[in-house]
Amino acid sequence: MNTPRRTSQMLRFIVVGGSIAGVACAYALQEAGHQVVVLEQGDGRHESHGGLRSPPNMTRLLNHWGLGPAIARVSIKANRFTFMDGKSGEELGPLVLHDKLMKALAADFLYIQHGALHAMFVEFAKNAGKVVSVDPWKGMVITRNGVRLTADVIVGADGYGSVVRPVVVGPEGMKGVLDKRVSVNITVPTDLMRRHEDLVPLTVSPEWSLWLGHDCATHGLLTVNPDTSEREYAVVMHVPTDGKPAQESWARSQPLDEKFLKLDRFEPRVQKLVRLARTMTPTGYTIYEPFDNWVHESGRVVLIGEAAHPLMPNGSHNSAMSIEDAMTLSTLFSLPATKSHTPLLLSAYEELRQPRCAATQASELRKRDFVCMPLGPEQQARDDGLRNTRIRALLDWDEAEEEYLRETWEEYIDLFAFDAREAVEDWWTKWGPAILRPQMLDSRIESTLGKFESLRLEVDVSREAVA
Ligand SMILES: Cc1cc2nc3c(=O)[nH]c(=O)nc-3n(C[C@H](O)[C@H](O)[C@H](O)COP(=O)(O)OP(=O)(O)OC[C@H]3O[C@@H](n4cnc5c(N)ncnc54)[C@H](O)[C@@H]3O)c2cc1C
Repeated sequence: MNTPRRTSQMLRFIVVGGSIAGVACAYALQEAGHQVVVLEQGDGRHESHGGLRSPPNMTRLLNHWGLGPAIARVSIKANRFTFMDGKSGEELGPLVLHDKLMKALAADFLYIQHGALHAMFVEFAKNAGKVVSVDPWKGMVITRNGVRLTADVIVGADGYGSVVRPVVVGPEGMKGVLDKRVSVNITVPTDLMRRHEDLVPLTVSPEWSLWLGHDCATHGLLTVNPDTSEREYAVVMHVPTDGKPAQESWARSQPLDEKFLKLDRFEPRVQKLVRLARTMTPTGYTIYEPFDNWVHESGRVVLIGEAAHPLMPNGSHNSAMSIEDAMTLSTLFSLPATKSHTPLLLSAYEELRQPRCAATQASELRKRDFVCMPLGPEQQARDDGLRNTRIRALLDWDEAEEEYLRETWEEYIDLFAFDAREAVEDWWTKWGPAILRPQMLDSRIESTLGKFESLRLEVDVSREAVA
């Protein structure tokens, strides 16, 4: 879709939160011709070396924004996902990202460091500040220093502990259930790994390796440090909290704790790999039911990213959903609508994004629980299933059985092939003409009301006849 830049009316947006969702959204809204202020409580630098995944549905949007060459410099292209038994290292079964499939998807599955992706957008986040309260009716935010700023639209992109969310959703926006697992980021420089023969293959292979342990899992992939251009191995461990609440913060690193990580549940390679790191960053999670409202009834405040749909940390789709949100919102606000259409465009954003994000929220937890099964009959059935598909999975795309491909890929294709811009295009094709020519909408409403009138007349007549 060639979205026109908005020429009619420029709006003033305030984006609360300057991480991936916030900076991507600010970048895209600015591209659409609007004035954007990003308020970020920190110094705007995220030096996180944690590895995130950019599935094709996200890479496609980054390419559209012209970020492809920059991303190529700091990312690794995935070739397959390999499932292994956590304790023995036995390869259970792979999911091969066949060239033919990836070509059809027109975008790659990439691994990128969180800080690298953030830095790419960050130059647009120019104003600093922690927002302490929001007045949705006045379109106003108040920062910790007492600065009052108003805007036509306030975008709440302030993550898991959002201050904007309760304003939009109400108190239930902060009530959830503590997850029984915590996810831990560990970054290992590949030059340390190269000193160990059995770790060398991990320093060169673009596969995403997943070790399925007893009630826990470890996965790892290669990333590029944007400052040194050196490769680093990004490890994520999902471990039980053992009933202890864990901080929902990405910012707090602590010394490596082998007991906490249940390291003895993994094969020697994983143990060796993790011990090469000195620190770990655990991030807890609160599970929420999907929120009904992402837009305040004033039509001036909207939620995006983790503020709107808190996803399990370190899933495959956290950044992807945030970037899709940003693209959806900015594409809607590139349409040739006017300022008076703002509430309508915001509710279109909500309608377009909610079902996809709710489905992703649920499927990410399901997938995490699938790889973290405790030892037992269910885990054995899972492993047997993976072993059974091993031979079929390794066949070339053209030789593979259609049934196997459909079963394996159906859910992924739904996720990977989705295009946030096309979704807006479809919405605009349906509603655009009526929005631009309200008299058309009026005449549709009148004709519908006319039908009701004649129906009422018929009912009244028949009532009279009965009487
Ligand atoms: C420091 C950091 C490191 C991360 N590292 C990784 C990683 O390695 N791998 C990974 O997969 N994901 C990581 N994430 C999470 C990832 O960014 C999100 O899962 C996803 O991209 C969606 O992000 P978001 O922008 O909606 O929310 P978040 O990333 O949670 O960002 C919210 C932003 O809002 C700011 N903020 C919060 N409250 C206020 C307020 N009152 N006023 C102003 N600003 C406020 C925060 O400082 C933060 O910058 C990290 C997040 C952070 C903040």
